[in-house]
Amino acid sequence: MLRQFLNAITKIFDLPAWFKMIRSTEGDMGYPLRLVAALVLVGALLQTRSVEQLERWSQRGRFKRFGIGPISADTIRRRLAQIPPAVWHQLIRQVGQKLARNRTWTRIDGLRVVALDGVELFVQHSVTCQECLHRTVQGMTEWFHRIVVASTVGPRRQAVLEWESVHPADGSDKNEGESTAAYRLLATLYRHYHHQIEVIVADALYCNRVFLQKVLDYGWQAVVRLKDERLTILRDVKGLLQQALPVVTQQWGQELLQIWDFPGLSWGSMENLRVIYWTRTVTKHRRGKTYRGQTFTKVYHGWALTTCGPAVSAETVWRIMHHRWDLENCVFRQGKSTWKLAHCFGHDPAIIEALIGAQLAALTWWIWWSTRDILSPALAQAPRIDLLERAQENLGFLRTNYQEWWCLQST
Ligand SMILES: [Zn+2]
Repeated sequence: MLRQFLNAITKIFDLPAWFKMIRSTEGDMGYPLRLVAALVLVGALLQTRSVEQLERWSQRGRFKRFGIGPISADTIRRRLAQIPPAVWHQLIRQVGQKLARNRTWTRIDGLRVVALDGVELFVQHSVTCQECLHRTVQGMTEWFHRIVVASTVGPRRQAVLEWESVHPADGSDKNEGESTAAYRLLATLYRHYHHQIEVIVADALYCNRVFLQKVLDYGWQAVVRLKDERLTILRDVKGLLQQALPVVTQQWGQELLQIWDFPGLSWGSMENLRVIYWTRTVTKHRRGKTYRGQTFTKVYHGWALTTCGPAVSAETVWRIMHHRWDLENCVFRQGKSTWKLAHCFGHDPAIIEALIGAQLAALTWWIWWSTRDILSPALAQAPRIDLLERAQENLGFLRTNYQEWWCLQST
């Protein structure tokens, strides 16, 4: 099973070409950088827990098909820090672009939607590297890293396209804002995925005119979450809500979904904005003698602000907003269980970028591979943790010479 997986990603995403980009500088007689990159990539695919675990597995000969013999944790850390971070960004782009060309991004009602969101990593109480951000919590200074991730979202699968680190600001006491990093991310997305994106979806932090305008300038549309307390920025939408009728009313079993649509709104110099409001009412019958016959209802509601025109239905906007959670649920939640291991891997800006890149690529590959049509039903239905365990067991029994196939021999 691991063989099928590795063979598929090697062929389809042209891994040999990526490894060829990694070159040691002339006269560097150290451990080959390509082997270290291969080790970390395979480690990310199999979710190894630490550098020490990679060291132990290497001593047991598990990486022999990759041409990797026993290697110490120190060597892995030292050499990993020497691989330029750009290499890992190239990897994630190579994967994203290939998926885009093969039309494997899932669409939401025909639209290709990319979600942006920030995530915090490696929170601790001491400063460890020059890229650490800081803040004061109850008189204590906390140090951490923060990245903004862009990922396609949709009903079937997600693909991480790029990430951008939030930097500490030079000379002043404040870190740069998450949106500053997000603007750099938008520029990178435009350079590499210009025609492959129709809509950018983001949370309430991005509900500002600068962000909306930037998205429009790149030729995309924006959908952002609007918080109740920010409603005053537009004309009195809440007042309009009193009189308006929902454009969508759907009932499935105990659930009622209603959506309202308010087009033609303006915000400062921005015109033709649209606000979508929805409520989802869930009615449940209480069980037990005391509650006989009683029901209780729970109402969930939310607002979205969008630049999408009338060609995109209110229901589609609601669906896009809903799929924003894919990034949180499918990418961050899984990623976080492994990202907290940055301490074990080594806290250094280059090592952190390598880990993020390798793990985001690994995650995208697993999502892609486990949702392929050609996958056998037994594998397609297996939970990802099961696939992972099987892959770990298979590692020592691989027959293919990946050292040769991945071009790991030289430099
Ligand atoms: Zn740091």
